[in-house]
Amino acid sequence: MSKIEDFITAEQGQAIIKAIEMAEKNTSGEIRVHIEKNTELPPLERALEVFHLMEMDKTDLRNGVLFYVAVESKKFAILGDEGIHSKVTENFWDAEKELMLTYFKTAEFSKGIELAIIEVGKKLKEFFPYHSSDTDELSNEISRGS
Ligand code: CA
Ligand code: CA
Repeated sequence: MSKIEDFITAEQGQAIIKAIEMAEKNTSGEIRVHIEKNTELPPLERALEVFHLMEMDKTDLRNGVLFYVAVESKKFAILGDEGIHSKVTENFWDAEKELMLTYFKTAEFSKGIELAIIEVGKKLKEFFPYHSSDTDELSNEISRGS
């Protein structure tokens, strides 16, 4: 597995975007996915860097959640901004990472990401229900690094 395109096909990418769109229909929270090849850093540390680079900390309610994956490095992390992080326990993120890992082990990468997005969406909905004045603060497109 060396290329991002091998990791997530175009079609799978569309399914992930759809999962984000569906989740964001129920919550003001914002979900993004960033996929890149490598990182030297611990995944959560790199996720934090990416989070700031993508200005995910600029949402009104600080309720952005980033799914970060480094394909070649075989690392991934889920990072929630302080709005959502303060509402859930560490167990929640661990459980979602565990869910992803279950699918990653059988190379069902997009499936793992999709299912975790759905679960995170449900949790965001609990604390940040959709509001009619809601806007799409962060793009639903998958962000790809090199
Ligand atoms: Ca929104
Ligand atoms: Ca969005």
